[in-house]
Amino acid sequence: MPDNNAKVEPRYGDKLQHMLSLVHPWYCVLCQQPARQAMDLCAACADDLPLLQQQCQRCAEPLSVVAAMCGRCQQRPPAFDRVFAAYLYAAPLQGMITAFKYQRQQVMGRVLAESTGRHIADAIHAGDLDTPQALLPVPLHRWRLLRRGFNQSWLIAMDWQRTLRQHAIDIPVQAAVLQRRRRTRPQAGLDLAARRRNLRDAFSLHATVPEHVCLVDDVMTSGSTVETCARLLKQAGCKRVDVWVLARASRTV
Ligand SMILES: [Zn+2]
Ligand SMILES: [Zn+2]
Repeated sequence: MPDNNAKVEPRYGDKLQHMLSLVHPWYCVLCQQPARQAMDLCAACADDLPLLQQQCQRCAEPLSVVAAMCGRCQQRPPAFDRVFAAYLYAAPLQGMITAFKYQRQQVMGRVLAESTGRHIADAIHAGDLDTPQALLPVPLHRWRLLRRGFNQSWLIAMDWQRTLRQHAIDIPVQAAVLQRRRRTRPQAGLDLAARRRNLRDAFSLHATVPEHVCLVDDVMTSGSTVETCARLLKQAGCKRVDVWVLARASRTV
């Protein structure tokens, strides 16, 4: 098990990083100004990313009133146990994710993964988030993978693994556990019932899974995809399934 109490190295400002920045300066992907933190996002733009504030403790649905859980989780608890999202799916992050997924600007995904990765590390070190035994990227069907050229969830999981290691947290990425066995229509524009129908039997498991795993995806909206995967994992004996995403969109928008 990783030692979460190990001493955390200072994030910024160490001499090696400063020397590297002289050789390879970093420029912010949003404002194009030099960024000093050895990442392609400057501190000011990172501060402007929309943090997810009041939220359901279970599914991270943004809430306008103080409540532990949203109405839906109270009525019908989901198969997953906890969603962690540092950011709300809103500008400028929304455009960054579109550029990442559809315009092949992988640097956008990387800066968001690095930024959220630090939030995850902080939450783990503060005792607010448990460390899963494996990160499971939500898979793409191989046709979509061929067309897009990459699975965004896998890239995010790999960036999180790397970022968390810098904070003395080691979680392996197990990319082959979950597979998409049939092609599904894009979920956008479908209502909840149609999303569930669309996803029925869409995933399969190809390895034994540890007791505590974490699904990785880019954005969570209705939660239908991670709900389907979590149900499958629980049926296979998983005791706890968390979900980490870059951003949470409200179901009601
Ligand atoms: Zn900037
Ligand atoms: Zn909820």
